[in-house]
Amino acid sequence: MHNWGGNHAYRAARLQRPRTLDELRRIVERAPRVRVLGTRHAFSDIADSGELVALDALPADVVVDHAAGTVSCGAGITYGALAAQLAREQVALHNLPSLPHIAVGGSIAAATHGSGDANGNLATAVAALEVVTSSGDVLTVRRGDAGFEGVVVGLGATGAVTRVTLDVEPAYDVSQYVLEGLAWEALSERFDAIFASGDSVSLFTRWGDAVDQVWVKRRAPADAPAELFGARAAASERHPIAGMDPVNCTAQLGRPGPWSDRLPHFRMGFTPSAGEEIQSEYLVPRHHALAAIQALRGLAGTIGPLLFVSEIRTVAADRLWMSPQYGRDSVALHFTWRRDQPAVERVLESVEAALAPFAARPHWGKLFLADAATIGGLYERRGDFAKLLERMDPRGAFRNAWLERHVI
Ligand SMILES: Cc1cc2nc3c(=O)[nH]c(=O)nc-3n(C[C@H](O)[C@H](O)[C@H](O)COP(=O)(O)OP(=O)(O)OC[C@H]3O[C@@H](n4cnc5c(N)ncnc54)[C@H](O)[C@@H]3O)c2cc1C
Repeated sequence: MHNWGGNHAYRAARLQRPRTLDELRRIVERAPRVRVLGTRHAFSDIADSGELVALDALPADVVVDHAAGTVSCGAGITYGALAAQLAREQVALHNLPSLPHIAVGGSIAAATHGSGDANGNLATAVAALEVVTSSGDVLTVRRGDAGFEGVVVGLGATGAVTRVTLDVEPAYDVSQYVLEGLAWEALSERFDAIFASGDSVSLFTRWGDAVDQVWVKRRAPADAPAELFGARAAASERHPIAGMDPVNCTAQLGRPGPWSDRLPHFRMGFTPSAGEEIQSEYLVPRHHALAAIQALRGLAGTIGPLLFVSEIRTVAADRLWMSPQYGRDSVALHFTWRRDQPAVERVLESVEAALAPFAARPHWGKLFLADAATIGGLYERRGDFAKLLERMDPRGAFRNAWLERHVI
């Protein structure tokens, strides 16, 4: 069995699909080493272990509490399936990632994010979590409880998250439009205005002469602008990767639609993105964004041969200990690579060296090289996180090779 990207074959001796919480508790309590497997969208061995458990056979049981402004659901549900249920209750999440096929539990564990100056990553919507720890106990941890900020972005190491409670708000519509050919000078001069032009803004580039595309998603109904600081409105729908058919992309050209059909770039029910790809991403403090982008432009010749496309997004700061946005408004610099891992790793050496002066934190779910010593210098709360793991998982059942290599 492989991950979505096809660049990791899971080594676990077995995969179990418990149907009840008690069955899961027994599996976890007895396993020497175990991890929850989500929808396998991470590009590394982050989810691998001696044994794996998938939670998609546990009841999703989606319950909206309108008075509290929350939804609670099984952690194995995908954002797409959750959005369909939220639509019936006319409520929405604050943001979504680029595709709806990813499980809620796996996204929160690895601090998955979308874009938007005012939007924290998806884990910031968590109001409470239910966790099965390695002793088989079931804990509920709520916002405000001691250690909550450490448990949420838990990297799969705090236990098996079985249910999550997420903040919701009244359902809203979004319109999306794409502009093309943004000059690098315009980006340098009008960076804040460009990212403020929508509630969620993504730039796509191959680090050539210009930023190829600007994807703007807006909540308020607005006419699609003919231009944005020199970039011109696309006349028809676009795929982020030049030349690919936009048939699997969400509707553009300013046509309003439900939040869940516009905030992701890719539609549920279609093969998203390029397929046969590996992804990497680094989060830099927003005030370093232009310098970091300049450094990457200097590597265009090294990056180019392996790159499908890069995406640049903004993410708001949060207080979750292991979130790459901990304590800093951030700019996310993403790479969709051709699936040649040894070659990608050689390029990542140059990318990580170029971004080191900007305290770049790698996306946990994507491919990166930084070791635990480097990561330790980037996360003020890493020591607290290590203590939390000792308390929640004293026998180290949820530890794995990835965690030891990159975090602890
Ligand atoms: C095509 C594609 C597009 C993507 N787009 C984005 C994007 O827009 N933004 C972004 O930030 N990321 C994006 N990602 C990365 C992805 O969101 C993360 O890698 C995410 O962690 C994947 O979730 P998963 O359930 O598939 O996790 P898996 O790969 O199955 O697991 C990831 C980690 O989560 C843990 N985990 C999973 N479920 C649980 C649980 N219930 N309890 C405890 N731990 C759990 C696993 O043990 C593992 O450590 C994308 C990935 C792909 C393949």
